[in-house]
Amino acid sequence: MSDTTKTESTAEQMSFEAEVSQLMQLMIHSLYSNQEIFLRELISNGSDACDKLRFEALANADLYGGDSELKLQVSFDEEASTITVSDNGIGMNREDVVANIGTIAKSGTKQFLESLTGDQKTDSQLIGQFGVGFYSAFVVAEKVVLTTRKAGDAENSAVQWTSDGSGGYTLAEVEKPSRGTDVVLHLKDDCKEFANNWRLRSIIKKYSDHITFPIMMLEEVAPPAEDSEEPPATPQLEQINAASALWTRPKSQIKAEEYEEFYQQVCHDYEAPMAWTHNKVEGTQEYTSLLYIPSKAPFDLYDATNQRNGIKLFVQRVFIMDEAEKLMPRYLRFVRGLVDSNDLPLNVSREILQDSKVIDSIRRASVQKILGMLEKMAEKEPEKYTKFWSEFGQCLKEAPGEDFANKEQVAKLYRFDTTKSGGKAGENQVSLDEYIARMQLSQDKIYYITADSYNAASNSPHLEIFRDKDIEVLVMHDRVDEWMMNYLNEYDSKSFVSVAKGDLDLSGIGLTDDEQAAEKKAKEEKAADAEPLIKRIKAVLENETSDVRASSRLTSSPACVVLGEHEMALHMQQLMKQAGHEVPSSKPVLEVNPEHPILALLDNEQDEDQFASWSRLLLDQALLAEGGQLEDSAGFVKRMNEMFMALHQR
Ligand code: ADP
Ligand code: MG
Repeated sequence: MSDTTKTESTAEQMSFEAEVSQLMQLMIHSLYSNQEIFLRELISNGSDACDKLRFEALANADLYGGDSELKLQVSFDEEASTITVSDNGIGMNREDVVANIGTIAKSGTKQFLESLTGDQKTDSQLIGQFGVGFYSAFVVAEKVVLTTRKAGDAENSAVQWTSDGSGGYTLAEVEKPSRGTDVVLHLKDDCKEFANNWRLRSIIKKYSDHITFPIMMLEEVAPPAEDSEEPPATPQLEQINAASALWTRPKSQIKAEEYEEFYQQVCHDYEAPMAWTHNKVEGTQEYTSLLYIPSKAPFDLYDATNQRNGIKLFVQRVFIMDEAEKLMPRYLRFVRGLVDSNDLPLNVSREILQDSKVIDSIRRASVQKILGMLEKMAEKEPEKYTKFWSEFGQCLKEAPGEDFANKEQVAKLYRFDTTKSGGKAGENQVSLDEYIARMQLSQDKIYYITADSYNAASNSPHLEIFRDKDIEVLVMHDRVDEWMMNYLNEYDSKSFVSVAKGDLDLSGIGLTDDEQAAEKKAKEEKAADAEPLIKRIKAVLENETSDVRASSRLTSSPACVVLGEHEMALHMQQLMKQAGHEVPSSKPVLEVNPEHPILALLDNEQDEDQFASWSRLLLDQALLAEGGQLEDSAGFVKRMNEMFMALHQR
């Protein structure tokens, strides 16, 4: 909040954060064909405010001040062209208003704004995901007046926030007889049709039927007949929404559309969910869970600062808290929905949840429900599963480090590109079970390569021998893969082996016993022949490498670098360094291909200085191919140029 000037004794002029103005403009533009959602947003805020008060009142019932019937009311004035959305929820004091309305506290707002495309349909979906609810009022209103009083505060300490949505707002101290919030919308000329009884009711039914608090409107009374003596009837408040806790109804009586609507209204998503599972558990423990998988990943799912978890906790139908992170492991943070327990105390706090046996067992069972649902989807609806995997697969890859017990079960759900899937990244991915079914005769390991892109991996010299021997290799190019592989050591009793790390022994795979023996002999002979050359190279590269040896990996490249079995891949080391982390520097092993003509040339080089220079060049290009960075890139260029000159002289 930069400039604030007092305009009169109590009203204060404030300006919006730059992002708010920007967002508002975008929203007004992109929601043009979907204006009616303003009501859903304001109702959802009123409902959130009631939830918050109910929760706080568990510890301090005085906050109700005698009025514990939480509800919302929508009213309108056709002549004045206004709509009012009121709630008797928690309300806000001056500080709250300044912090919540007029600013955007969400992290990632900048990236979000940059991600908007200008295409109305996509943008309105993004805006829905982002959840910039309150400002959608300005899609239909030219002026918004929000009057609010916090539960527990005095009558004369209410705050009034007024804005025309362009640049800023005023704040004034006012009186408000009851706690909670009234939002009055002064409709734009072309939006006056919203101040209409039938219109408002149908919007409420459509978007807010599943809100758990009653949404009231005044009933419509017919005007008295002209000759009537009776005084006109006073209209009564009536409830518009169903406000039934959907999850408490028997599964067999709930239609798919109802599950979808419930999700959209309660989990604030524009799109229908991809799948859901609804379970009533009875016996030693009693609870109901209704868990959804969204169709799309939220924009900040992979933001490390985003600790959000989409599960709401209810106790005996009373909303207790959002984002109950204890209910789902982090790698399933994309799951939305709710758990309603009959066993927890109503005054349960986050601290109590931390080591609650009840919560632990609900969590274990819920994880099983989700994994089971995904397994079934993978089996019965493979196309849908492919979509799921592309949206949320990276999250699941966090499981091996987080959920030891379910490691193998989650790994069953993984899909990878491989050297044989062909085509583009993401096409024809295979499961580990499929990989194993396609393994070569006497192959007992699962081979993989990690790189920062599919192309970089596909062109790696490390894959040459695998191509030669027709052994399939998993191609991993998500950032999380390298990390995941620290925890995923085996699957179906077969260990994972990186093609770029450690001493590789592929002898025997796909061969009969006789062929194996012949291969071994040939290999030993070649190694003996190459020994003197390798010694020479080793002497030159003593400081840069930990070893130089004849390679069993290469067929068409002259050399490659190999890491220790437990070392971080070079492209990851690079990323870590860029992010300012200390990376323990380790020297790579240089493997050379003695059969390559370049090595023969090198062997013939009598000038020791030249020999040293060529050897360095060999190492440098191997490092580059591996995605590493050269310490002395100028030296590399110099040696390259010398080599060109040498070519010229010969
Ligand atoms: P969100 O609901 O996603 O937090 P909104 O833009 O809809 O975003 O609302 C911003 C914030 O303003 C809310 O988080 C809440 O703190 C506050 N707020 C909005 N409406 C109300 C209300 N009716 N009662 C109390 N607080 C409200
Ligand atoms: Mg909101």
